[in-house]
Amino acid sequence: MQTTAAVVRTIGGKLDFEQVTLDGPRPDEILVELVAVGVCHTDLATIAGTLPFPMPGILGHEGSGLVREVGSDVTKVKPGDRLAVSFASCGDCVACLAGEPAYCHSFMALNYAGVRPDGSSVASDSGGAVGSSFFGQSTFATHEITKERNVVIVPEEFPLERAGPLGCGIQTGAGAVMRSFAAPAGSSIVVLGGGSVGLSAVLGAVVQGCTTIIVVEPVASRRELALSIGATHAIDPAAGAVEEQVRAIVADGVNFAFDTTGIPAVLTSALNSLGNQGVLGLVAIPSDPDSVLALPLIQSIILGVTVKGIVEGDSDPDVFIPELMSLYLAGRFPFDKLVTTMPFSDINKGIEAQHDGSAIKVVLVHLAADPWPRRLLRPRIS
Ligand SMILES: [Zn+2]
Ligand SMILES: [Zn+2]
Repeated sequence: MQTTAAVVRTIGGKLDFEQVTLDGPRPDEILVELVAVGVCHTDLATIAGTLPFPMPGILGHEGSGLVREVGSDVTKVKPGDRLAVSFASCGDCVACLAGEPAYCHSFMALNYAGVRPDGSSVASDSGGAVGSSFFGQSTFATHEITKERNVVIVPEEFPLERAGPLGCGIQTGAGAVMRSFAAPAGSSIVVLGGGSVGLSAVLGAVVQGCTTIIVVEPVASRRELALSIGATHAIDPAAGAVEEQVRAIVADGVNFAFDTTGIPAVLTSALNSLGNQGVLGLVAIPSDPDSVLALPLIQSIILGVTVKGIVEGDSDPDVFIPELMSLYLAGRFPFDKLVTTMPFSDINKGIEAQHDGSAIKVVLVHLAADPWPRRLLRPRIS
């Protein structure tokens, strides 16, 4: 079938809307008509060439939409189901079998190769294959092909156009605190960076019952937003050494530090903010792929410090996304406060807004170009 996709052709280039042919669905695949897609920092890093992906290619990995067609082997969903699409994993490796698909041994091949595991491409145009299957989806388009393991059913009462970001950015931040750290009630945390992942970590820390939640963020409006969603303190890094500002709040140092910046100097401040048996979580793709963290050995040993790399907030999407949706519906996880909605046709504007920081989490909605019955998007009013 034909779909309209926003295609990136060159590193650093703008996205062009093009007609693309989609192949499938094969027996184990699902055809989804998209309602919305979030823009994630990983899309930006891939456009910038920091992460590898074949070009021309279709990015986008926080999609939500409606099932239009399923292959003969698919049992998890049926046509008409509302779903969110998350990252791809194999289901067969040691990590997947242990319920830790974010560390799937085939993660890079399944999420970044731009083709199916057999080397065929889901998408093509007059010039040949178009890089697709980005995070098992490529949802900067009106339709996509995905698989059962990538998708989570969205309940009727949950707004479908909000569901996509739960599949990557939001679950990464919230999951870091709720799953990777499993931060206990009463614990303290410093979050470095007040973007969508950092502020999702703040929301996760509130859910966990952390009593000291410190956000380090240079932009005043983001510090204010952090405080409005549950941060107990918001630090301006320009106001003095971050570790000194943190220790003015928690003299012994914090239990957890979560870095969303990938900036080595910020990571050093994060390490120096940790107390005994503190844990530093790393999640950001640095702008320099060769970035290195200098770990002070004696201090790290004596304090019993843990440095932990985190992918997708250690999420098992089948378990964690429904948990986040329930928390949202209960009013305990208001991640929509981070969202700026734009029409899909404004995708380049949306990417620019995400890049320059004027928006925290852009969600592109297909409404303008392709009107959807509102009943599909909004909670039912009975
Ligand atoms: Zn696996
Ligand atoms: Zn992402």
